[in-house]
Amino acid sequence: MLSVRNVSKSFGGVHALRDVSLACGESEILGLIGPNGAGKSTLVNAISGVLVPSQGHIALDSEDLTGRGPEHAAHLGVGRTFQNLRLFPSMTARQNIEVAHITCRRQRPAVAAAIDVEALMAEYGLDAVADRPAGTLPYGQQRRLEIVRALALGPKLLLLDEPAAGMNDYESEELAHAVQRIRDRTRAAIIVIDHDLRFIMSVCDRICVLDMGEVVAIDAPAAIRANPKVIDIYLGQ
Ligand code: ADP
Ligand code: MG
Repeated sequence: MLSVRNVSKSFGGVHALRDVSLACGESEILGLIGPNGAGKSTLVNAISGVLVPSQGHIALDSEDLTGRGPEHAAHLGVGRTFQNLRLFPSMTARQNIEVAHITCRRQRPAVAAAIDVEALMAEYGLDAVADRPAGTLPYGQQRRLEIVRALALGPKLLLLDEPAAGMNDYESEELAHAVQRIRDRTRAAIIVIDHDLRFIMSVCDRICVLDMGEVVAIDAPAAIRANPKVIDIYLGQ
């Protein structure tokens, strides 16, 4: 279970996060929404060790994650995708996935043994392009490859930053099913950021709304949709 306690992050004079607290449990899908610049990516970056918070604490299953770097987070089972893709473009699709799988094997061999890289690639329609350099794949396949790479890490916590960006309705519906399937199979805690509200409302158990670095509400999708503050700052746009 992920616990974020009183996390703040400033960039110079910009308060990207202010006193943010939230939790995400095993098998829970938590949505993270809010206007551009609300602090969503900053929060995911803090949780995955990419950024050091200015204040506060982050823990996964009582192991401290605060400011310990992305490798430490990956070793503890934090998998993520990036808003702007960050694959190794000259490595093949399979090699991109194997890097994550090896990380898992080193730290948690029993978890790694249960992950079949070839089967994962086939499930996400990447088997036919496994030997192609990641950077040469069409955008949609690169997005799927990022998800498979995060899954090869055997994540206890999976962070998806705008995974449906650039997808059409059909693809984002497929993705919603895929995210729920991942939850059912791995029992991972999943945090998903997206602007596509239909996607978020359909896939998430709870939704956290951020605005100007602060948590406005954390609630079930129906309650979020009816929350006047949320309608005011976000849905009413
Ligand atoms: P969101 O993902 O919700 O659109 P971000 O977390 O990317 O928002 O950004 C939150 C705020 O922090 C914005 O005002 C943004 O300009 C600022 N910010 C984010 N990253 C940096 C950075 N590396 N340096 C300076 N300011 C940043
Ligand atoms: Mg963002």
